[in-house]
Amino acid sequence: MSRFAERLEAVRDRVRATGRDLEEITIVAVTKGRPLGENRVQEALPKLDALPEAEWHLVGHLQSNKVRQVAGRFRLIQSLDSVRLAELLAEREGGQRVLLEVNVSREPAKKGVVPEDAVAVARQIGDLLPLEGLMGLGPQSADPEPAFRELAELRQRCQDASGRALPILSMGMSGDFEAACRAGSTMLRLGRVLFENPVP
Ligand SMILES: *Cc1c(COP(=O)(O)O)cnc(C)c1O
Repeated sequence: MSRFAERLEAVRDRVRATGRDLEEITIVAVTKGRPLGENRVQEALPKLDALPEAEWHLVGHLQSNKVRQVAGRFRLIQSLDSVRLAELLAEREGGQRVLLEVNVSREPAKKGVVPEDAVAVARQIGDLLPLEGLMGLGPQSADPEPAFRELAELRQRCQDASGRALPILSMGMSGDFEAACRAGSTMLRLGRVLFENPVP
């Protein structure tokens, strides 16, 4: 097995150990800062095999002056955080699927709408674009599970308020994906744990 496939398998084992069913959870490999141009076929093929139906998601902050470049290029824009951006995307390409990013950790450096605004903003965005769920980052220092549980609750409230199904709850990174699984995540965004050697 390649190192990548081994790491992916180790992540799957850790997800299973939280009691969650792997069928319910999508693992998104986050490749920022890692050029994926492969120059060795023998290295590339195991990655393609491990991810047969690769589709691209944008997980980082989207600036309004980049909307023109991204519209229609990503299967899912996970980091939508304003009605204004949704309007700009809707003008470009009505079908862009999106998640609303919510700042559940309430850290000022983090992006996303404040939790208090999530239901109203989700309703407005859902009128403009296919909104598929919510995305959030756990707090850096504190126990992440309460913030993840809050995001899970918010998804429920957004669903109830809008009458639309929001199947995706994107939460959990390398340092906190088990807590996210326990809180009901349906999508993990993993970088280091898939691409870097484990810290000895
Ligand atoms: C970088 C990044 C990740 C993955 O982070 P790791 O800690 O490397 O797993 C997930 N989500 C977002 C929004 C990121 O920017």
